[in-house]
Amino acid sequence: MEKTIPEYKIYKYWFDKDLKLISNCKSRGFIFSNLFHCSSSYFKKKYEPLDLITRILTHKNREQRSAFFRFLSGYCFLFTQSCMKCGFTTPDSIHFLLNCPFFITERTEYLQKVRKMLSNHFPTILPDFNHSITNDKKTAVLILFGANTKTKNPNGNITFFRNPLKPFHALNSIPAHTADFATKIISVFNS
Ligand SMILES: [Zn+2]
Repeated sequence: MEKTIPEYKIYKYWFDKDLKLISNCKSRGFIFSNLFHCSSSYFKKKYEPLDLITRILTHKNREQRSAFFRFLSGYCFLFTQSCMKCGFTTPDSIHFLLNCPFFITERTEYLQKVRKMLSNHFPTILPDFNHSITNDKKTAVLILFGANTKTKNPNGNITFFRNPLKPFHALNSIPAHTADFATKIISVFNS
């Protein structure tokens, strides 16, 4: 009798392939590939890296979910050769969410909400977030997209990823704020 391959193994195989492609897109795939790396417990039972949309962004409308995933995947019509507002070369999610001077007022409000959430519920993460904001911003942006677990990578650096076993974690309100801010950014260019 033919042996049945468990469904999660098939998902894992294809996800691994997709992830390699995304990871090879230099900075574009950085957020997605770090949040949902293949060794994570997303693959213990079933494939559900999109729990972000099915659980966390469930109260957001289509426009907000779409804006969130454009920024998460690194594929958005704003990510062109240069920023249409400030002229920065090859702008990406980090540029618009954390650097572009055009959005400074909205960003201040957004980051205040995020810091309040971290300081109320995860004071141990706040220093990592603040340190990252003033440095390469990579850890900060992972937290903004739903990373909820701190870990050490093979070279000893602290990094964050998304652990699906914490589905109702209080940190989940942070990606919802990110969806709102990404929507505001896109609406400026669409108006
Ligand atoms: Zn800009």
